[in-house]
Amino acid sequence: MRIVLTGAAGFVGSHLADRLLADGNTVIGFDNLSTGSRTNLSEAETSPQFTFIEADVSEPLRIDGPVDWVLHFASPASPPRYLELPIETLVVNAEGTHNLLRLAREKEATFLLASTSEVYGDPAEHPQTEAYWGNVNPIGPRGAYDEGKRYAEAMAMAFWRTYGSPIRICRIFNTYGPRMHPGDGRVVSNMVSEALAGEPITVYGDGHQTRSFQYVDDLIEGVVRLMHASYEHPVNLGNPVEYDMLELADLVKELTGSTAPVEFRSLPEDDPRRRRPDISVAMEVLGWRPVVGLRDGLARTIEAFRATRVVEVS
Ligand code: NAD
Ligand code: UDP
Repeated sequence: MRIVLTGAAGFVGSHLADRLLADGNTVIGFDNLSTGSRTNLSEAETSPQFTFIEADVSEPLRIDGPVDWVLHFASPASPPRYLELPIETLVVNAEGTHNLLRLAREKEATFLLASTSEVYGDPAEHPQTEAYWGNVNPIGPRGAYDEGKRYAEAMAMAFWRTYGSPIRICRIFNTYGPRMHPGDGRVVSNMVSEALAGEPITVYGDGHQTRSFQYVDDLIEGVVRLMHASYEHPVNLGNPVEYDMLELADLVKELTGSTAPVEFRSLPEDDPRRRRPDISVAMEVLGWRPVVGLRDGLARTIEAFRATRVVEVS
């Protein structure tokens, strides 16, 4: 297949590019490098089946020839990054999604939106099923990201209802792994970088808020299965095992051998108290469930972060 992938130079996008190429596809990767990096594509760029185009996908794209899939992963994703880029975040999810849906329609391609568990906001239901409508503050600082993704989902559904366009929506829960940007501010990359540098481990608030962490390989498998399925409604992709941030800090310290203390910082505004996916739909429709536990996934992530630090220092 010939596949358009936006956000290809990002953490998730670059892993997806590698997987799609390994499966024998041709991939055209778009990215404006606002939060991603070309170095994430060093493996993909060794393939003659891969083309990289530096472009802002909030602007209309023109692509010659056939396209089978359009996968829209371009968007800042880490809270500090989308707080710095709120307008760009809204626009890439609104206009960007519209552009890519139009491209998919023109090419008769299947479109996938990388949505997020943030559509559930600070959830009043736990765990979160796809039927839950969410509890989002539209005018708070996280609103740019959360409402951007909610709009993008609404736009994808509107294309499906209006034109019968084949669309897929995955609601991704906190995902981690090699190639997360060490400075992008997410909890796993922060804690691993801090532990490896021998610095205090930063925990925001009291550390009792929870998240469910999914290793990137599990996510990629779920995305590929979703593309091959025929399911035009949102699907949660996440690991249903829930941890609080103090437990995560302890595990990072244990796996890195860090003896640094935990340092408490203030809790960001509207930080969700808890987050855990109900993955019944993914299990039933895709025959999918995550297979990498947090201990194993963190060990792989720490190893990759260590290797990058060695290269940077030497
Ligand atoms: P990332 O920041 O590493 O990757 C996003 C990529 O999109 C970057 O390479 C960035 O340069 C690119 N980009 C941003 N705006 C663009 C634009 N206007 N035009 C072209 N490229 C643009 O983040 P990630 O974690 O890899 O997230 C990828 C996608 O998955 C995002 O859509 C995000 O919302 C979604 N997602 C990720 C997670 C997670 O835990 N990683 C969770 C939920 C949803
Ligand atoms: N967090 C933390 N220490 C950090 C970075 C984040 O305790 O160094 C907390 C953050 O307040 C949130 C959780 O970890 O409660 C997950 O944060 P992240 O930014 O990774 O993802 P999101 O809030 O979007 O789920």
